[in-house]
Amino acid sequence: MGAGAAALLLLGVLLLGGSPASAALEARVVPPAPRQGAVAVVFLAGAQGARQVEGSLGGRSLAFFQYGEGYAAIAGIDLEARPGKTPWRVGVVDSGGEGRQLRGSVTIKTRKFPVQRLTLPTHMVDLDPETTRRAESESARLKTLYETATPERLWRGSFTRPVGGEGKGEGFGSRRIINGQPRLPHSGLDFSAERGVPVVAANRGRVALVADFFFPGRLVALDHGLGLYTLYMHLDRVDVSEGTLVERGEPIGAVGASGRATGPHLHFAAQVRQARVDPAALFAVPLRD
Ligand SMILES: [Zn+2]
Repeated sequence: MGAGAAALLLLGVLLLGGSPASAALEARVVPPAPRQGAVAVVFLAGAQGARQVEGSLGGRSLAFFQYGEGYAAIAGIDLEARPGKTPWRVGVVDSGGEGRQLRGSVTIKTRKFPVQRLTLPTHMVDLDPETTRRAESESARLKTLYETATPERLWRGSFTRPVGGEGKGEGFGSRRIINGQPRLPHSGLDFSAERGVPVVAANRGRVALVADFFFPGRLVALDHGLGLYTLYMHLDRVDVSEGTLVERGEPIGAVGASGRATGPHLHFAAQVRQARVDPAALFAVPLRD
């Protein structure tokens, strides 16, 4: 094509409001109407060669990674997220330094969680001041961990259940009211298993914390990168140390009843950018790689 034709074509592209170097930016959120505790995936196309890709959904930042021909990011919908229309935004800075933005919204659906009303002797519920301080500082330590989003994506593909057997895991999101006082909702899945049964990493990640805390007992927190963490609680034994990189399915410890547990089971929890999500939703994330 001659210089004149090229100039006309360029003019046409400019008149249409686009840039000759960039394809149309397209984002798709799957599912478009996630329920409380869900894990959604934001797929982005048309951002090839971008210098920067960032965004947010419901006020939580989205950490994009290259996926196929485009980009993807996972978004956690907290189990107590407010139902209804929730905005998302994606911003791309292309190689030439030009910025483009897309905005949209998802509709968060209410999920019905079971409510458990329990009446317990007060001495089992009201902790002494020293134990209260301990439990608070331990939960603050976990919160600080979850706020840390390491930049490298360590996980790949699907997440696997952390214990063998058929049981699906129970109790995610159940609201507990003890002696008339609402307590924090149960933010994990409980897998019943015998003491000593191996617990494996749900996906590739770095051992971010090994601790023995008052409520969770012996625990392992795995950092999968980009603000995604999985947590394994009430362990009888921990077989890994902080800083170790573990692969999906690699043993990290054994089921127990440490901490405040009524019997041996694994409490398995997951957080995405501090959103408490249903681990079962992680098992179903629609990413191949
Ligand atoms: Zn539990």
